[in-house]
Amino acid sequence: MWLKCETCGGVYQPVQAGGGLYFHTCPPLERVIVEQPDGSRAIVAPDPDDKRPIVGTTTIPRPGVRDERPIGVDPATGQVLIASPGRGVRVVPAPIVEEG
Ligand SMILES: [Zn+2]
Repeated sequence: MWLKCETCGGVYQPVQAGGGLYFHTCPPLERVIVEQPDGSRAIVAPDPDDKRPIVGTTTIPRPGVRDERPIGVDPATGQVLIASPGRGVRVVPAPIVEEG
C-alpha cells in the first residue's frame, strides 16, 4: 500500500518492502536568506524573480506538519496515536518506476 501525505505531497509505503515500518514526517520548507537594500536580511521563499542577493539558506517548520511518530495508544480503540495528523493521507496507486 502506498500513501500520499496531503500536507507535503510525499508518497511512501508505511510498511516497507522488507517489512520495516516507516513513520512519515513532513520535511521542513526550504527558504533563502536575502540581503535587502537597507542592509538588513530577510528569510523568504525561493523566487527566481527576486533579485535581492542570496546570502544563505535555511529551513522553517512546515505549517500543518504530519508527524507519524507514535506517541501512545488510544485506550478506547487500541489505535496507535501519532504526534500530528497534519492534513491526513490517502491511498494512491504505486508510483510507476521507469527503468533503462
Ligand atoms: Zn508529509
